[in-house]
Amino acid sequence: MIPLACLLFIVGPPQTVVIVTPRGETIVPLSTERGSSAVAAPLLAGPLGLTAAIEGSRATVSLGGAVFVFQLGAPFVRVGGVVYGLVGEPYVARDTLFLPLQWLADCVPRALGARYHWNAAATRLEELPVAGTVVATAPMAPAPAPAPASPPPVGHPVNAPNPLTGLRHHHAVVIDPGHGGADPGNPGRFFSGGLVEKDITLAVARLLRAELTRRGIAAQLTRTSDTLIDLADRGAFCRAECDLFVSIHVNAMPAGRSAERTAGVETYFLSDAKTEDQERVAKMENDALRFESTAAGGSRGPLDYILKDLQLNEYLRESARLAELVQDKVVAIHPGGDRGVQQAGFMVLTTARRPAILVETGFATNRTDGAFLASSLGEHKIASAIADGIVAYLLEFERRRVDGPAGGS
Ligand SMILES: [Zn+2]
Repeated sequence: MIPLACLLFIVGPPQTVVIVTPRGETIVPLSTERGSSAVAAPLLAGPLGLTAAIEGSRATVSLGGAVFVFQLGAPFVRVGGVVYGLVGEPYVARDTLFLPLQWLADCVPRALGARYHWNAAATRLEELPVAGTVVATAPMAPAPAPAPASPPPVGHPVNAPNPLTGLRHHHAVVIDPGHGGADPGNPGRFFSGGLVEKDITLAVARLLRAELTRRGIAAQLTRTSDTLIDLADRGAFCRAECDLFVSIHVNAMPAGRSAERTAGVETYFLSDAKTEDQERVAKMENDALRFESTAAGGSRGPLDYILKDLQLNEYLRESARLAELVQDKVVAIHPGGDRGVQQAGFMVLTTARRPAILVETGFATNRTDGAFLASSLGEHKIASAIADGIVAYLLEFERRRVDGPAGGS
């Protein structure tokens, strides 16, 4: 058994992480660069049930009844049947095992589910009190209520898969019909009866809600009538009780010789580095205040910096996969063809704190697309296809989160 510490890969002032359990607290020192003067944790075996051992190149760390297996020099950790990627490699120096902080901040809460909570602001890993035995051999469950910016919740397990979808958990989706009220969206050149984009998006969104409900998925609209909702407020609908966010729109080409020839579906996922950066910078500056009295030169909060990056990467990956699956399904029923999955910085997507996509369901400036979008049959087909894509994503998500004995990734 050897002392355990954590490694932070960004140079900065020394920091610590506190592990808080019903049985007491332990302070874990953080090394801020590889090989620097990290302090070994004074007490890690014992009251917290945290132990580390090394055999050859294999490091085994027990925490909260789970066993995490690392390979020295390899950026991953295995717990049960699930492998998590790490931002850095575990290593041993001066008889101390150094692990990426991300393991504690990200992997442990995910693997141990509801029992541990990572408090980024306080750099604390908090074990929640459990009735009965505390250091657990209890079964590990996936987290029912992750932190605001963590992956979508899988909800409460149900006994049998839904006969229509195969989904085993409760899911909730927020649907955002683009535009509304004073904002008509694009004028819908080839829509019949004076319809404009805001009418089509609302019609498709309502049908999508019905299709999701039929599949046992809770669905909420950001608007149910012809009203205008601020872009920044739309994403806010998708918070705690929401797995993902889908915004519905209709494309249009600017007038020109080829405008009428452009047709088809494209699905966007979040990529607004500007907004994310602004958030990150603000977080960094605020975080620096905590270090001012203790260290010179500490000008940023490396912990939040890393975590923010991790969260953003998680969103991008999840949102991109959701976009891909929805795009595949819609393309299969659409007369206009496949314009692919795209990345762009839509304001509406950046305010959702879950995987978020925006579906451009076709071109109002194309005769065939326009007729399809303005028809009841076309709208039903699009809504049903988007719902199928969402189900495909949630099935994948459930498999990844739930199949592993430790709650999966
Ligand atoms: Zn639009």
